Amino acid sequence: MASRISQADRSNARKTGLIFFPAFDWAISPNHPEREERLLYTRDQIFEEGLMDLPEIEEHKPRLASEKDVARVHFCVPNVKSQVTEAHLIAAGSTLVLSDALMAGKIRNGFALVRPPGHHSMRVVHGNRGFCNINNMAIMVEYLRRKHGLRRIAIVDTDVHHGDGTQDIFWHDPDVLFISFHQDGRTLYPGSGFVEEMGGPNALGRTLNVPLPPGTTDEGIHYVLENLVMPVLDEFGADLVLNSAGQDNHYTDPLANMRFSAQGYARLNEILKPAIAVLEGGYAIESALPYVNMGIIQAMAGLDYSHVIEPDYVKGRFQQTREMNLAIEATVGRLQDIWESRENLVAIAREEYGQFYRTRKRIFYDTDMINESQMETVRLCDECPGYNTVATEAARGYGKLESAYCISIPIHACKSCKEDAHEEFEEHRLELKYDYVNLQDKPADVYKSYNTRTRTEKRY
Ligand SMILES: [Zn+2]
Ligand SMILES: [Zn+2]
Repeated sequence: MASRISQADRSNARKTGLIFFPAFDWAISPNHPEREERLLYTRDQIFEEGLMDLPEIEEHKPRLASEKDVARVHFCVPNVKSQVTEAHLIAAGSTLVLSDALMAGKIRNGFALVRPPGHHSMRVVHGNRGFCNINNMAIMVEYLRRKHGLRRIAIVDTDVHHGDGTQDIFWHDPDVLFISFHQDGRTLYPGSGFVEEMGGPNALGRTLNVPLPPGTTDEGIHYVLENLVMPVLDEFGADLVLNSAGQDNHYTDPLANMRFSAQGYARLNEILKPAIAVLEGGYAIESALPYVNMGIIQAMAGLDYSHVIEPDYVKGRFQQTREMNLAIEATVGRLQDIWESRENLVAIAREEYGQFYRTRKRIFYDTDMINESQMETVRLCDECPGYNTVATEAARGYGKLESAYCISIPIHACKSCKEDAHEEFEEHRLELKYDYVNLQDKPADVYKSYNTRTRTEKRY
């Protein structure tokens, strides 16, 4: 692929690109844990340590993502504008700035220290879920495929919460490998991310979830990395490895119960070597974020990070029990089996489901108290990943919100999937069953939303 940068180009670009965007004018509420102070201490620490003056590090200025960049990923109901503020577009746009710099060979890697976060935002967006409206990581992935011609991308989500939004967006996509490790969903929001969730029938094994017991330490996470994540990444052969970097596995985080340290996070990054990391969660504003982010930045820049230690850190304070070790080993073993048998699992699923696979989903938006119900359908096509549709209806309390019928054509769709998807779009426009009929035509890079009440069409 002509637009892919060669290894040589990338090693010539020695700098680590950073973007800071604390979004001072956006918060869910003044005392909400996801608020602007999240990045202030990190920024102070970085300037205090003189990181920005080092030749290895280069600050980049953010820009706005366009509504089209958002529509390439999300079906926002009723439209993109109603679901985002300028802060959301800047957070997403920051990842695009780093993508362009990386692909132009100007930086060797980059870290977008931005908020609001994104990894709980799913394909359909009726409101805010888990502090997220739009998925910065997914917007970057689709941008990299559209603008830079990449095909296979791996996302490793290291936030303590399951990256259920990113999982939903790439569930049926065999070209995007999504690996999330997180605190066991039986003990933490959003209550998902179990081993059995392994991707849609055409993409089985391309979603890998590693639920970890509460109290997991650096040791546990490094075990997962070395025994599962790195071998799987090697075999998958991604054009790029990206990291949804949540810092809430830290032992001081107020929203979760894990025992990672800044050193553990820095080492994780050093092993994983993501091309671009995008900040997700992390709510210990003073005791964790400055240290974890500093450690990650220095690891990315190839600098010594051994001095990045929390003031209250005591070596050896956190130990995993034997039961925890056994549980982690068993989970990794099950995931290794899934990964190795992925082609076989796809063959069995296709045999079982025939031409179309349908599933019902209920989605709860904790921040906005919205209940959504979806009927999702994907064509199990022999020639391509298959076009898919989502019929969605949402309600808040007893108030019904908008409904939509959403059709998505994958970027490498075959001719027949393209034709059938367009036909479905025309059919649903004519009936008045849904408030909106939306089409994501990724091969043409055209995104349409038809309002059946006003009979007008919006194009992105
Ligand atoms: Zn989180
Ligand atoms: Zn097809």
